[in-house]
Amino acid sequence: MQRVIEQLDPYLECDDCIVDDKHVVFKVTSTQTTLHCPHCGVESKKVNSTNYRKIKDLPIEGKPTIIMLMARNMVCANPDCPHRFFVERFDFIQYHCQMTKRLAEKNMGEGKGKGIGNYGT
Ligand SMILES: [Zn+2]
Repeated sequence: MQRVIEQLDPYLECDDCIVDDKHVVFKVTSTQTTLHCPHCGVESKKVNSTNYRKIKDLPIEGKPTIIMLMARNMVCANPDCPHRFFVERFDFIQYHCQMTKRLAEKNMGEGKGKGIGNYGT
């Protein structure tokens, strides 16, 4: 199951995977230790807080898949930056949507043949 997550972002690590009758849930954290402030570009390692974001992903074996993604709130290390804090961003999440880009593409009918059902378990 780690492979499913790594395909989204190579820095992601799957901490837990819960499969029940109706859902597949992944608990995921990023292994990246340094993040760049999107406003000034300066590196930061200082975490202010963390929270889980609930992101929908492609169904696995017909079950809706949810990624519980640990996102960090960072403190910008640049004292001159107009933004003191910034939120960790992930390229695989559709902007302003609580779903992955690959799910959004599939919903739009563009992800032809890119199903996720053949990873094995
Ligand atoms: Zn900054």
